[in-house]
Amino acid sequence: MTVQEKIVSLCKRRGFIYPGSEIYGGLAGTWDYGPLGVELKNNIKRFFWQSMVYERDNIVGLDSAILMNPQVWKASGHVQAFVDPLVECKICHERFRADQIEEKKVHQKLHQGAKISWTAPKEFNLLVEAKLGVVEDAKQKVYLRGEITQGVHINFKNILDSTRLTIPFGVAQIGKAFRNEITPGNFTFRSREFEQMELQYYIKPENKEVQKWNEYWKKERMNWYFSLGMNNKRLRFRKHTDSERAHYAQDAWDIEYDSPFGWKEFEGIHNRGNWDLGQHQKYSGVDMSFFDQEINKKYNPYIIETSGGVDRAAFFFLIDAYCEEKDRVILKLHPKLAPVKIAVFPLLGNKPDLIKKAKGIYNDLKSKISALVAWDDRGNIGKRYFSQDEIGTPFCITIDFQSLKDNTVTIRNRDTTKQDRVKIDDLHRILQTRLKL
Ligand code: ATP
Repeated sequence: MTVQEKIVSLCKRRGFIYPGSEIYGGLAGTWDYGPLGVELKNNIKRFFWQSMVYERDNIVGLDSAILMNPQVWKASGHVQAFVDPLVECKICHERFRADQIEEKKVHQKLHQGAKISWTAPKEFNLLVEAKLGVVEDAKQKVYLRGEITQGVHINFKNILDSTRLTIPFGVAQIGKAFRNEITPGNFTFRSREFEQMELQYYIKPENKEVQKWNEYWKKERMNWYFSLGMNNKRLRFRKHTDSERAHYAQDAWDIEYDSPFGWKEFEGIHNRGNWDLGQHQKYSGVDMSFFDQEINKKYNPYIIETSGGVDRAAFFFLIDAYCEEKDRVILKLHPKLAPVKIAVFPLLGNKPDLIKKAKGIYNDLKSKISALVAWDDRGNIGKRYFSQDEIGTPFCITIDFQSLKDNTVTIRNRDTTKQDRVKIDDLHRILQTRLKL
């Protein structure tokens, strides 16, 4: 089994990620996050919000609607230009993105040596359409948003009018986006429904400002992944070539991860210039300018965007954390990301005194730590440790016979397997420090 296959299997078996609509045969490109997956994803989103909104003075949050007036997508250029080049295998008519060289090579092998020819690339629009309204003939065509970005830009005036922000300032948003991807695949990497976490940062329309903030956000975002424990040798920046840059971007950099299927993008840092505000001004007729009191002048600000995928980040954090050691599998997730923070075990599951004492500690920790705390009293203790290692639980607390005598417990560290004994009275404080909560 490859590492990727092992992770996919672990995700299903332990409740991180399930294939979408599985009992009906599935729906390609959709995934459901199970009890552990939802924790991992929420943790990623929480720390994104923490670092973007709570720790800064000039960035605010937004939660805009998924459904928007279709004019938004005409103005943003997505109706015309949000396209991928589609080619079709002339033997079996399976469709691929023309630039997905690897996938096409794999497909070639399926035809066992037969020479494949491909149709000429056709432009294929990725926006997912839906119909809205109650009268069948008068239903309005709408789009499920293809990126969460536009919800921010159409609210530029509202945000300015309802806050005291002044340039430079940013708006952070997390939410679902939908794309009719030609070839969803590589687990959650390319899905048709996924979540993005973004910052739109409005700046003065000057070259030196663009350079400054572009470099600043590149560094900040890369450091954010390091701060959550991602291996810095497996991360890099890649600049987009002129031909691959999206229609709205003047400059584009990807943060890429060295995944089992090659170096792949999971966050983009883009200079969107004044494309978005300019287009919405043109299509809506609403003035989208900012009056800069410093220079007594109005202008359409430029935008530096950081746009990351929550699902891709979750997948890459899992790959990065996956580790096999002798007879155990460990997810060495940063404690901040680990779905279960602590597991509590009575040494034996059939001793009422031990169970009573352990339940007291378990309930106390559950009430103090706002994250999952697990309980396990089944089978032998070694197996219980291994079971927690496999889902990345950083610490296991064991209540043994000595605990009954002197009010101490052991804390076992997931990565080193070392145990130390601490007083129950100090347990919560010690765990908080070790968990970096
Ligand atoms: P790709 O080149 O892989 O299709 P993109 O350049 O179109 O990605 P952006 O439009 O820049 O991606 O979107 C920003 C982020 O949203 C990406 O870096 C990625 O993490 C996430 N993302 C985009 N498309 C998908 C998808 N189909 N499935 C999961 N995440 C996605």
